[in-house]
Amino acid sequence: MYIIKTPKLIRKLFPNYLWNKSRKKPYVYFTFDDGPIPEVTPWVLDTLQDYDMHGTFFCVGDNVRKHSKIYDRLISEGHSVGNHSYSHKSGWSTDAENYLNDVELCSSFVQSDLYRPPYGRLKPQQAEAIRHQYKIVMWDILSGDFDQSITAEQCYQNVIQNLKPGSIIVFHDNIKSFEVLKQVLPRVLQYCQLHGLTSKPLKYSSKKKELAIA
Ligand SMILES: [Zn+2]
Repeated sequence: MYIIKTPKLIRKLFPNYLWNKSRKKPYVYFTFDDGPIPEVTPWVLDTLQDYDMHGTFFCVGDNVRKHSKIYDRLISEGHSVGNHSYSHKSGWSTDAENYLNDVELCSSFVQSDLYRPPYGRLKPQQAEAIRHQYKIVMWDILSGDFDQSITAEQCYQNVIQNLKPGSIIVFHDNIKSFEVLKQVLPRVLQYCQLHGLTSKPLKYSSKKKELAIA
């Protein structure tokens, strides 16, 4: 069970997390979690390039260690990156010390001050420690590309029915999601192009925390 459109109440409960960007500018923010991997990420990069759009890749440190050339490509093509932990642990089932060590280990492979918790799950103590070093980036649209029980059409509808300026959308560059992503990503990019929306990379400087929340 998961929620496609993040409810206002949840956003209000966690005001320090980034849920969306300005609703007044014609930008949206495609994010891709779990890569980089050779089977999927280069395809995502080629597809974004076809539409001249950019995204943010929340990388798993262990994947960057194994596939550093793809990581270099992400950076050189103007995308941004975020820390998605080293081994994709769930915050709810990992004690704070192990969890924070995993985030720290990822930071030696992923240079970023953005953090997205795997599964969106963090315990308060973990969040409190992480938010001093990172902007915690959540989303307002979860595409559901990982959900093997929905069709590509449903995934596409999940995105476009909730899409508006400032939206942060979650996709996955992992094996499980690829069948759906292959069909959905080009269509969503086309939709954005038709509606005058451009996908931009999330940029954040911890020295200017207020900018990221604006
Ligand atoms: Zn993940």
